[in-house]
Amino acid sequence: MGCIFCKIASHEINSKIVYETEEVIAFRDTNPQSPEHVLIVPKKHIESLETVGEDERALLGGILIAAREIAAKLGLKNGYRVVANCGEDAGQAVYHLHFHLLGGRHLGWPPG
Ligand code: 5GP
Ligand code: ZN
Repeated sequence: MGCIFCKIASHEINSKIVYETEEVIAFRDTNPQSPEHVLIVPKKHIESLETVGEDERALLGGILIAAREIAAKLGLKNGYRVVANCGEDAGQAVYHLHFHLLGGRHLGWPPG
């Protein structure tokens, strides 16, 4: 219902898809924060890490393995970062669970 990532996951809205399985889709962020910036998303609507269920442990693990595979596909040999913003203090803007995969430049730490 009005969820932008659900619409991307169902191909109702176009995106630059870099990886897709039955359960997971990954696509390029429209406002990239690094030369490579991909969002990895479960196709199922889950609001955030806060609302992930016990039966979704395998789904979460699969997303992290997908991150590694996508990083390899993008040639991020020097490293990359995987991050999920959860809630207001982290600046979560889209309430459909997603992991950012960032790479292609040196990434500072701590983040802002
Ligand atoms: P958050 O702050 O919720 O962790 O990040 C949401 C991300 O989604 C932002 O980096 C933003 O640029 C990205 N985003 C928002 N709307 C769209 C969209 O319609 N398509 C794509 N590809 N990315 C989007
Ligand atoms: Zn959704």
